[in-house]
Amino acid sequence: MSSTSQAFQAPRGTYDILPTTAGTVLAVREALAAPLRRAGYGYVETPVFEDVNLFSRGVGESTDIVTKEMFTIATRSEESQRLALRPEATASVLRATLEANLHRTGNLPVKLWYSGAQYRYERPQKGRYRQFWQVGAEAIGAEDPALDAELIILADDAYRSLGLRNFRILLNSLGDKQCRPVYREALQNYLRGLDLDEETLRRAEINPLRVLDDKRASVQDQLGGAPMLVDFLCEDCKAYHEQVRELLTAAGVAFEDDPKLVRGLDYYTRTTFEFVHDGLGAQSAVGGGGRYDGLSEMIGGPELPSVGWALGVDRTVLALEAEGITLDIPATTDVYAVPMGEQARRVLFGLVTGLRRAGVSADLLFGGRGVKAGFKAADRSGARFAVVAGERDLADGVVQLKDLTSGDQTPVALDALVTTLKEKLQ
Ligand code: AMP
Repeated sequence: MSSTSQAFQAPRGTYDILPTTAGTVLAVREALAAPLRRAGYGYVETPVFEDVNLFSRGVGESTDIVTKEMFTIATRSEESQRLALRPEATASVLRATLEANLHRTGNLPVKLWYSGAQYRYERPQKGRYRQFWQVGAEAIGAEDPALDAELIILADDAYRSLGLRNFRILLNSLGDKQCRPVYREALQNYLRGLDLDEETLRRAEINPLRVLDDKRASVQDQLGGAPMLVDFLCEDCKAYHEQVRELLTAAGVAFEDDPKLVRGLDYYTRTTFEFVHDGLGAQSAVGGGGRYDGLSEMIGGPELPSVGWALGVDRTVLALEAEGITLDIPATTDVYAVPMGEQARRVLFGLVTGLRRAGVSADLLFGGRGVKAGFKAADRSGARFAVVAGERDLADGVVQLKDLTSGDQTPVALDALVTTLKEKLQ
């Protein structure tokens, strides 16, 4: 069947993870999470959909993520709350924390990590999908520059553990509720004097910092003289930021100060950072995050200063490709059984079951095919050993164990197969 006669395809902006690449994807998810587990972060899972207002309040009314990219769900009952697929997980994780009172019953900060798909109705292109996967971390309820530094260091460790080298860390401070409003007004006054389209002018009124992030040359060309936030930071924010920088430097983590770095979500305060990979073209951000001291209050909780990040799994896989890194993924099957004849089929089926129960990964030639097909299948499976048997072997109480790397073949007694293979596979 040609691909054009296929009736259904994965929805636009999504793709299937198939066994050929699944090993890498799973290894990346694991590598991004491993440093968090070592640092006391506990795993959480939240629903993939939430009350739409959680995101419009939490992520921000004026962000692209909320105004253009949210997948809202039409539910059957009109009275029921409107739902949306999560575009990111920070608001959900904070909602779960507040709902379960984790901030009251445990130590602060509450340290949590997650791994899951996020949904944004974006224009798809390489590295930008409508369903993508993030591994993320949140440290909720503490204001401490060491926490900001810890998270940046853990993300750096994660990328390095995969062998990635060609990435940079961009760092900025977005100020706090003391100094940001002063800056905001100065920026707004500047933006009002520019030649901007209506939508951008409207954005300048709601969230002027986002205009700095506008990628269009017609906008960027006019921003040369814009006031910069660094020049407006209050003493507290300056001191806080300096401590984050010092801790990173002491840990040997290089970063670049980027006074223009603002991010697509409204809730960030103070420390903001992004990991960019230089081999990815337009969609170069592999991860990012920052401090969100006001988010809890925005969604109806108490004051809980927090910091977090989300790392993109899809783009990390692309970054590995860009750097020519192949992860060492073990074969899924160690042993492949090739029966010759009906009686052997039954005996080997039993042997394979026994191997699996003993913890050895094993597969079997199905479908009544012959020995030639069997060896081809064994090779393709990536197995290190083939177990072959015909009637004569079984009459002698043995199977033939073939080392698929060296080609050596030796008879092994049926009742010694499990121990022999376990030894050889160690
Ligand atoms: P954000 O939640 O926008 O800060 O994104 C954090 C990370 O998630 C980014 O650095 C990307 O690696 C990844 N990411 C965000 N949006 C997408 C998308 N549409 N497709 C693939 N990865 C994405």
